[in-house]
Amino acid sequence: MLSVKGLKAEVDEKEILKGLDLDVGAGEVHAIMGPNGSGKSTLAHVLSGREGYEVTGGSVSFEGKDLLDLDPEERACLGLFLAFQYPVELPGVNNTYFLKAALNAKRKYHGEEELDAVSFMRLMKERLKVLHLDDSLLKRPVNVGFSGGEKKRNEIFQMALLEPKLAILDETDSGLDIDALRVVANGVNALRGPERSMIVVTHYQRLLDYIEPDYVHVLAKGRIIRSGGKELALELEEKGYGWIVDEAAA
Ligand code: ADP
Ligand code: MG
Ligand code: MG
Repeated sequence: MLSVKGLKAEVDEKEILKGLDLDVGAGEVHAIMGPNGSGKSTLAHVLSGREGYEVTGGSVSFEGKDLLDLDPEERACLGLFLAFQYPVELPGVNNTYFLKAALNAKRKYHGEEELDAVSFMRLMKERLKVLHLDDSLLKRPVNVGFSGGEKKRNEIFQMALLEPKLAILDETDSGLDIDALRVVANGVNALRGPERSMIVVTHYQRLLDYIEPDYVHVLAKGRIIRSGGKELALELEEKGYGWIVDEAAA
């Protein structure tokens, strides 16, 4: 589904990603862990096509297409979903309206009919039920005044509506209490499926108590320096990152 080869990227002329390799197959859940400042969010942003990140080397293919050739909207329409570490607030934009516009943009791209208001409400209700969420966030402006936990709930709901092929969740556990963490994890688990892949970026092992990854990668200094199964996350929790970084340097 996703194949990243030798990816190099700069921010403000500073090289952050220094030849990163990552392969994600259909239906797989990959966790990316690593020290602060190692480039995890940069990777997420480069994959989403965010402005200000200059790719200087390597390649990214997404379902056989050259991802780096596509603008961010096309990436989203093709099934890439990014939950940001700091979600954008849109004062004056009703959340339901925003979600409907996002979903219909995607449908239009694929030559499908737009959903009318009634069908959209039906779909929203069904997805809220799957995630065990209520509709309290839907009438409010997008992310405005949402608590950290509410922003994450909203992202998970966006994901449930948009049904991405590849979802990238960045630092979903930062600032979340255990209940919010469970909502996010339950959402991720409810949306897991043979055709849907996920990359979960996290500092802490804690989130992985609820989301069981198929693979765990350590990103340090702009590269994936170790990959393993879920037991690697436990080892990191116990021993930290230093030993792997030292081994990689040697
Ligand atoms: P992580 O998510 O792993 O904590 P980031 O990808 O956020 O790491 O950051 C990696 C490095 O890139 C850090 O040294 C950070 O200071 C730098 N960086 C990230 N974004 C910017 C930016 N917009 N301008 C300058 N430097 C940046
Ligand atoms: Mg960080
Ligand atoms: Mg980050």
